[in-house]
Amino acid sequence: MYLFPFCPNPTCQWHKKAPDYAWLRPKGFYRTKAFGKIQRYQCKRCTMTFSRQTFSLAYYVKRPIVLSDVVGRLVSGESLRAISRNLGVSLRLISNRLDRLGRQALGLHSHALACRRGFDDICIDGFVSFDESQYFPSEIPIAITAHSQFVLDFSHATRKRSGTMTAHQKQRASVLYRQCTLERGALSRSFYETVAYALELQPPTLVHPFVLITDEKPAYQQVLRQLSAFRLQTETHRCVHWRIWSKLPRTVNNPLFSSNYIDRQIRKDLAAHHRESMCFNRNVAAGMLRLSIYLAYHNYRKAFRIRCQKRGGEPRTHAEAAGIPGELAARIGRALTEGRRIFMSHCTLSRMMRRTWEKTWKTPGKVSVEYIPDFAGA
Ligand SMILES: [Zn+2]
Repeated sequence: MYLFPFCPNPTCQWHKKAPDYAWLRPKGFYRTKAFGKIQRYQCKRCTMTFSRQTFSLAYYVKRPIVLSDVVGRLVSGESLRAISRNLGVSLRLISNRLDRLGRQALGLHSHALACRRGFDDICIDGFVSFDESQYFPSEIPIAITAHSQFVLDFSHATRKRSGTMTAHQKQRASVLYRQCTLERGALSRSFYETVAYALELQPPTLVHPFVLITDEKPAYQQVLRQLSAFRLQTETHRCVHWRIWSKLPRTVNNPLFSSNYIDRQIRKDLAAHHRESMCFNRNVAAGMLRLSIYLAYHNYRKAFRIRCQKRGGEPRTHAEAAGIPGELAARIGRALTEGRRIFMSHCTLSRMMRRTWEKTWKTPGKVSVEYIPDFAGA
C-alpha cells in the first residue's frame, strides 16, 4: 500500500514528502487496454486520486514500447523516422516518448549534480550545427569537465549564416532573415549562462581555483568581464581563463580535449548532427530534449576511457569519474528508461535545463508556443 513516496498533486502539502503513517487509501480500480486492471489511490490530505501510472514514464500512454530500445537507437545514429519504421510505430509516438525521456534525463541529472563531490577544470566550446535549414546555424555551448568528460550543462544560440554565399543564397538569406527575428547577442548570452552555472556548481576555493578552458574567441573574454567572479577576484577565490590555440593537435594532451571529444561523439552518434544531415532538427526545443537524452546517456551509461580505466572488470561511467558515487550513477543510468517519472517540482534545474524541460527554446520562424502536457509541468 505504501508504494508512493509523495502525493503527485503539486499543490498538496505532502507533495515534497509524504508522512510516515498511512497517508493514502485505496479508491477502486480502473481498466486500461494497455496495462489491464489498475488500483487507484486517494491522498487523505488533498483527496486527489492517482495510481502507479501517475508515477510512471508511461503516464497516459496508450501504447507502451520499450524505452531503452528507443534510447539505444537514438544514440546510435538512427533518425526519428528510422526508429518509427523499425519499431512499427508512428513518428508522433516516438517524438512523445523522446520528450518524456528528455525530461527524465534532465531531472535525474539535476539530482546527480546535487550529489557530486568532485572538482575539475571546465572546458566550454560551442558545438556548431543547424536547425530548420543551413541558413540558421546553431551554436550549443557545452560545459564539460576537463579530466572526466562529464557534461554539466549546455545552452543554445541561433545565429545568422556566415561565410561565402552565392548571389542566390544571399538573396534567400535576406528574405528568411526579414521574416523572423533572431535574438541579438545570443552567442554571448548562451556562453554567459553556461559559465555562470558552472561557477555555481563549483565555486572557486583556496585550494581549487576555477579554471575555464576555451578557444581564443575574443567574445569569450568580453563575456567573462561581466562575471563578478572573474572581475573581482580575491586571493582565496581565483578564476583562470585558459585560452587554447585552435590549431593545436586534437589529441588527449590538448587541454580542450573534452570539448573536442564530446563534439566528435555528438557529430558521430546523433543523426540530427551528422555533417550535411537530412535529419536536422526541425524544432529547437525538441532537439534540445533529444540532446539531453544523449548527454545523460553519455554521463551515466557510457564507460569512461573503456580501454584504460577498468575497475573490477566493470568500466566506470563518466559520472563516477567526475565524483558522483558509483552506486548512484548506476541507479541513474537505469532510471533513465526504467525508473519512476521525475517531477519538475522535485528538481533544482538550471535556467537552461528549465528552458529545455518547458520547451521554451525558439525555433526560427515559428511563432506558436510549444505544447507541453499538464503533467510534465507538475
Ligand atoms: Zn495530496
